[in-house]
Amino acid sequence: MATPKRRVSHSRTHKRKAQWLGALVEPALTICAHCGETIQTYRACPACGYYKGRQIIKISEKTATTKD
Ligand SMILES: [Zn+2]
Repeated sequence: MATPKRRVSHSRTHKRKAQWLGALVEPALTICAHCGETIQTYRACPACGYYKGRQIIKISEKTATTKD
């Protein structure tokens, strides 16, 4: 089995992980064109159920009022 030639320093490891974790904590966000809610890109809006100008999911009154 191939093995690494040199040990990777703490600095290199942490620099790599910092970039990797940075992508995890901040997803790409946009504003819903239908209701103005902040939503994730390329996802149907969880507040109104719209995506690309069409209603994709039916949102009932009960689920719309409760947050989390
Ligand atoms: Zn919406």
